[in-house]
Amino acid sequence: MRYIYGPLLSRRLGLSLGISPIPFKTCDFDCVYCQLGATLSKTKTRKEYVNKEEILSEIRQWLKDNPQTKINYITLSGSGEPTLNSRIGEIIQEIKNISSIPVAVITNSSFLIHPEVRRSLLVADLIIPSLSAVDQDVFQKINRPAEGVKVDEIINGLIDLRKEYKGKIWLEVMLVRGVNDDLRHIQKLNEVITRINPDKIQLNRPIRHTTVAGIRPPDKRRLNKIKEILGEKCQII
Ligand code: SF4
Repeated sequence: MRYIYGPLLSRRLGLSLGISPIPFKTCDFDCVYCQLGATLSKTKTRKEYVNKEEILSEIRQWLKDNPQTKINYITLSGSGEPTLNSRIGEIIQEIKNISSIPVAVITNSSFLIHPEVRRSLLVADLIIPSLSAVDQDVFQKINRPAEGVKVDEIINGLIDLRKEYKGKIWLEVMLVRGVNDDLRHIQKLNEVITRINPDKIQLNRPIRHTTVAGIRPPDKRRLNKIKEILGEKCQII
C-alpha cells in the first residue's frame, strides 16, 4: 500500500487508518516542530498530487482485507498538508460512499482561506485544524510558512469554516517553549479561539526529535496555566 498507513492507535482518534493524499513532505509550512524533517521546497500549488482512483482502490482493498478491524476514523493527513491535493473533497465523498467509518482531516489550516477548500471538507465528520500563532511574527517563527501566507487570513478562514461546517472541529495548538507560550500571546490566542468557536481545543507539544535545535515543550506549570486560560474546552493531549 502506497497511500495508506496504519491503522495506528492515536491519542485523539482511537484506531485511525491514515491516508496520505500528497507525496512525502509536500507542504507550504516548515514548522520548527515538524517530525518529518525540513520542507525542502514549500509549495502553495494545489493539484492532484496523487491520483484519486489509486487512493480509493487501496482503501477498497484494505477494507476488503480487514473486515474484522474496528477502525474509529479514516484520517486524511499524511506527511504534509493534505488539502494541497485538489481532489480532497471527492476523495472524502467517495470514502463516505464505500464505508460508514467516520472521516477526519488533519490540516495546517492555511488553505481554509479559500472557499472552495472549505467547501471540499464539508463532507468530513471531523476537522482537526491547527493554529499555533495569532501574531504574524510568532507565526513566521513557529510555522515558517511559504511567502505571502498571512495568519490573519487563516484566522478568518477558520471563522468562516465554523459558520459553514456542521461537523466537529478540534483545534490543535502546538506549543513550543520560548516561541509561542508567552502568556500575552496566549491571551490573544484565547480571544481569537473564542471567535473561531471550535468544539475542542487540544494542546499539543513537541515530544519527539525534530531537525531544529532547542525545540522544547513548555514546562508542566506553564502548560497547565495555558490550559486554564483557554478554558473548559481545552485539553492537553
Ligand atoms: S504543517 Fe505539518 S507537515 Fe507541514 S511542516 Fe508543519 S508539521 Fe510538518
